[in-house]
Amino acid sequence: ALDSTTFWSQADKYLMSTGAPYTPTIVTRAKGTMIYDVDNREIIDFTSGQMSASLGHCHPEVAAVVKEYIENLDHLNSTILSPPVVDLAATLGRILPAPLEKSYFLSTGSESVEAAISIAKRATRKFEIVAFSASYHGATYGVASATYCMGRKHGSPVMPGQLAFPAPHGSRSPFRKPDGTYDWETEMDFGWAMIDQQSVGSLAAFVFEPILSAGGIIEPPMGYLKRLSMECRKRGMLVIADEAQTGLGRTGDMFAFQRDEIVPDILAMSKSLGCGIALSSVSTTAKIAEAAVKGGFLWVTTHQNDPLPAAVGCKVFEIVQRDGLVQQARDRGDQLREGLLRLKDKYWCIGELRGRGLLQGIEIIGDPITKVQSAELGAAISGKALDLGLSCQIVSLPGAFGIFRIAPPLTVSFEEVEKALSILDQAIGSVLS
Ligand code: PMP
Repeated sequence: ALDSTTFWSQADKYLMSTGAPYTPTIVTRAKGTMIYDVDNREIIDFTSGQMSASLGHCHPEVAAVVKEYIENLDHLNSTILSPPVVDLAATLGRILPAPLEKSYFLSTGSESVEAAISIAKRATRKFEIVAFSASYHGATYGVASATYCMGRKHGSPVMPGQLAFPAPHGSRSPFRKPDGTYDWETEMDFGWAMIDQQSVGSLAAFVFEPILSAGGIIEPPMGYLKRLSMECRKRGMLVIADEAQTGLGRTGDMFAFQRDEIVPDILAMSKSLGCGIALSSVSTTAKIAEAAVKGGFLWVTTHQNDPLPAAVGCKVFEIVQRDGLVQQARDRGDQLREGLLRLKDKYWCIGELRGRGLLQGIEIIGDPITKVQSAELGAAISGKALDLGLSCQIVSLPGAFGIFRIAPPLTVSFEEVEKALSILDQAIGSVLS
């Protein structure tokens, strides 16, 4: 049996801190929607790991693919192709709306958005990149520059040409009118006026999450992304959708941009694509792909187009489609939202409920009158929920304090959703009492 005291003393001594705290739980096993701690205590994982285990943990069919490929075809140099890579590109090409057609594959979300930005810069031969003021696009240098939800406290210079656009904060926006309506059109005019004034005439692309997740589950209102895309096109900018969290069915559409009736010029996906294995994709049109290479785009990395993760990606698409998981995300999402609405009626500390499908956010407020978000109360509730057997993530970044992100696997059952809601009910009740 594992000795917890030794485990934590070794972790303290040898594991470098990355700045973010760890929970006190030691997890030794994971299966489906559940993770199990060192004492074999069952915890419902309403975070899908770090949003990657969308088919649940250790899905047997995914495990079988990993086993087959690690024994037979693991990894090749970047000039050699194998069938699963072309199969995955063809699968995506068939599912994506025209003119999106061409894809290639990388490991992480940060990498895929870096690639998307690089493609946009090379294809347009311009260098300015616009992103929302509450965005999260990754941790490597270029995408960290396009990430605003964590503030700029790291203090290093950002990429030249990086510009921020006011995120559509909805109820928190100064463009919310006294009658409750939200004048996002004026807010957007203001945003573009700022961009046009700051630009040096080299606007390459706008990169955005269709639902801003780490920034606080911010869902742009209907019509918003359509107009945003039009404004980009007017300026000759490419539209990059970062569907790291929203892609592959999570929001109740295969791709979240479908709800907004837009087609981006470049699409980056990751997380759920590999269901626990590092796999990401970049997709674009034949025309942009060609223009990028002509403009000097060159990408050669160790794990690009690797057979093992690509084979997993093929299996993940097969399961999502075969098992109707996009519809399942809608159905379980509706059930979750109804349950959360009941909790909102019961507890004053729940402010807004936001999100779609199985990407939901609960805003925890510390005062029913001023409705200020409360990081402390949010942390207390998530800590209590974990004690009671439910793991949900608090998006505890500046500007998004007190937002719970609830994102179970798409395979979550009716009973598991009910059980999680009941634990959340107990956790909030006990913290408020
Ligand atoms: N984009 C979005 C929208 C994300 O949520 C994330 C990860 N949280 C990333 C990019 C970066 O992905 P990764 O952590 O795999 O590099």
